[in-house]
Amino acid sequence: MTLHLRGPVLLGDERAAGEAWVVGDRVTFSRPAGGADDELDGWVLPGLVDVHCHVGLAATGAVDAATAERQALADRDSGVLLVRDAGSPSDTRWIDDRADLPRILRAGHHLALPKRYLRYYGRELRAPEELPGAVREEAARGDGWVKIVGDWIDRDGPGDLTPLWSDQLVTAAIAAAHDAGARVTVHTFATETIDALLDAGVDCLEHATGASPEQIERIAAAGIPVTATMLQVDRFEEIAAAATRYPVYAARMREMHARRHRHLRDLFDAGVPILVGTDAGGTIGHGRLPDEAAALVAAGLPASAVVAAASWRTRAWLGAPALAEGAPADLVVYPADPREDIRVLAAPTAVVLRGTRVA
Ligand SMILES: [Zn+2]
Repeated sequence: MTLHLRGPVLLGDERAAGEAWVVGDRVTFSRPAGGADDELDGWVLPGLVDVHCHVGLAATGAVDAATAERQALADRDSGVLLVRDAGSPSDTRWIDDRADLPRILRAGHHLALPKRYLRYYGRELRAPEELPGAVREEAARGDGWVKIVGDWIDRDGPGDLTPLWSDQLVTAAIAAAHDAGARVTVHTFATETIDALLDAGVDCLEHATGASPEQIERIAAAGIPVTATMLQVDRFEEIAAAATRYPVYAARMREMHARRHRHLRDLFDAGVPILVGTDAGGTIGHGRLPDEAAALVAAGLPASAVVAAASWRTRAWLGAPALAEGAPADLVVYPADPREDIRVLAAPTAVVLRGTRVA
């Protein structure tokens, strides 16, 4: 099967090819001798990337394989062909044997403490001191990433967001991951968590809604990406409204909700790479990457930067190929350039995974 992509084909920032071909499961820029069996017109992008997605997780915790499959198919059909899974209670390793499902880079099971994260979601350690050892175990189960829950409401303590771990444990945990060859990303809403993470050499931050102006400068200087998860942060007002017994927490969540767009622009303007992640799995449905991208643009980010982050730039950062001679044919075709109008992402003409048109 040979497919002629009549382009333009986006290769990276400011780089495009006029046309390309899919031969077998690979991309080539040389016209095949036998011609093409089929052709597609439109803007061709390297398959989209959702860097904060939970396959195998629902509001009740781990799901069965049929449900995980539906989640992965919904992601795929939205153009997401590479997922960095931000922690899952399910063993989804079987997905690697399915040519029709997106590629997944796992972070193992995300690490938390009892009553200090969403119930049923994380791996709840019996004691904080178990963190470095648990990081080593999850690094062995994952694909180069470990996910730690950095802060959460402490209902038995101040009734506010507080870090789950001491600075020393954060340092030991991140060192343990790096020793095991894994990078670390951390869920954080609270201001109080971020300096210790930066001191310890964290590799990525999820949400980071509490970052102060000084911390934003530090994050930018260290070149650490932040997954903005705007669909999730949009829910902070709802979360605050439900937290009537915890007024300090509710006020903080409400304040972060109110300033969320300004905060995102501050991160972007400081030079922090903003990643596109839906946080699909618990409360947010799968297949919503185009909605997340549109939410980032609505908050004031340039569509060109959001599209690059949803595709080739984040592929490079994750060590995954984009579109190059001989690269895997994981690509999405759109009727127009999504960098001109982000809404274009919502309706791909075709999704091609491992050389096969799947949607
Ligand atoms: Zn999440």
